[in-house]
Amino acid sequence: MGFLTILFTKIIIFMLKIAKKNGGNLPGKLAYKMNKNIIKYFKLNCPVIAVVGTNGKTMTNNSVNRILTQSGANVISNLQGNNMETGILSLLIRNSSLTGKIKADYLTLEVDESYLPVVFKDLRLDTLVVLDFFRDQLDRVGEVESLILKINEFLKTYKGNLVLNNDDPNVARLGKANPENENIFYFSVDKYKFASEEMKEAGEGKFCPFCSTKLEYAYYQYAHIGKFKCPKCNFGNNEIYKLIKNVDLENRTFEIDDELFKIQFNSIYSIYNFAAAITATSLYNIKTEDVKQALENFVLNNGRQEKLVIKECETVINLAKNPTGANVSLRLVNEDNDPKDVLFVLNDNVADGKDVSWIYDINFSNLNNVNRIITSGTRAYDMAICVKNSGFPVSQIEAYLDLGEAVKALYSTKCKKYAISNYTAIQDTRQAIKSF
Ligand SMILES: [Zn+2]
Repeated sequence: MGFLTILFTKIIIFMLKIAKKNGGNLPGKLAYKMNKNIIKYFKLNCPVIAVVGTNGKTMTNNSVNRILTQSGANVISNLQGNNMETGILSLLIRNSSLTGKIKADYLTLEVDESYLPVVFKDLRLDTLVVLDFFRDQLDRVGEVESLILKINEFLKTYKGNLVLNNDDPNVARLGKANPENENIFYFSVDKYKFASEEMKEAGEGKFCPFCSTKLEYAYYQYAHIGKFKCPKCNFGNNEIYKLIKNVDLENRTFEIDDELFKIQFNSIYSIYNFAAAITATSLYNIKTEDVKQALENFVLNNGRQEKLVIKECETVINLAKNPTGANVSLRLVNEDNDPKDVLFVLNDNVADGKDVSWIYDINFSNLNNVNRIITSGTRAYDMAICVKNSGFPVSQIEAYLDLGEAVKALYSTKCKKYAISNYTAIQDTRQAIKSF
């Protein structure tokens, strides 16, 4: 039955190719319809590395892929972020023989948190990386806490490598899910220049998950990510396997184990993603030189800190699908002293979550040298009202339902531009800016 399913879906893929269509998740969807247990059929002899977390999955998975590829390995990954069951199934079908054999040195996957137990019920998993947990599209996946408990449940019987962000209490707690698992590797990032003593943005995880005592923070890097510990039960005081030191966002460098790494990104949020990728790949004896070279040349051209020059204006496009993503994007704006305009594009399509009230958790209070805020997308006016309510001068806010009009207005002046878009808006925003 597995053979027929793969044969059938491979024919579909072939026909899509002839029609010059990619088909996205369609082969996976069809295969799943034909055979609910199809994942069992695939035979993998290589290590499987998976990345979960609310923010940064795509960037981390892409970095892991790049590092392994640099070392000379043949790596299969869902780099575009098709991270639900059918997307992963499509990837496996595309890369397997008719008998379900997958030839690769590594398989690396970003996986939607809520699908983790389903995907890995019948698929091998050697290393799981957990980045962070934030409120995200609540109406689709349910409360953050129930999601963490679901993953915790999955980890109770998992004995593979577990790479955890020790600066997020929501993640660090997972290290206690299975006391028999000895393969737990915590990473952490030392205090950076813009870390603060107060939590600046909305975040989760203020209380100890084991004894309910209020957690004490030495500092916050962003949102609830920072150096914390429970004063009562000592939760958080883990032995750190990889510690990132001397983060220098201006020069885009950081250090691990006295080695200097150069990168193309300048947000604290990307540093955490690299910390995760370096920790995960260090478990496979990759040469430091390969890691350095891979990261030094690593850029993403998909609206995640994508840099362009349009009409002589330096432009940065960033995806933000929840308050944390938006606040991290605004940090980049505020850490830049040059005058600039900011474009926000907000849609409320099904994949975005219909409820856009999360925009009220965006922190607009510290805007640094922002001339204008322009809003667009299906919820352009909600966004404009939210900015107005934060106290930003009304005369400097412009709202356009039409994205083309918004981009035209954005480039009507000469200064730096930052474009921040949510999920379904990001590709249209990139397109509108690039073709302007
Ligand atoms: Zn405690």
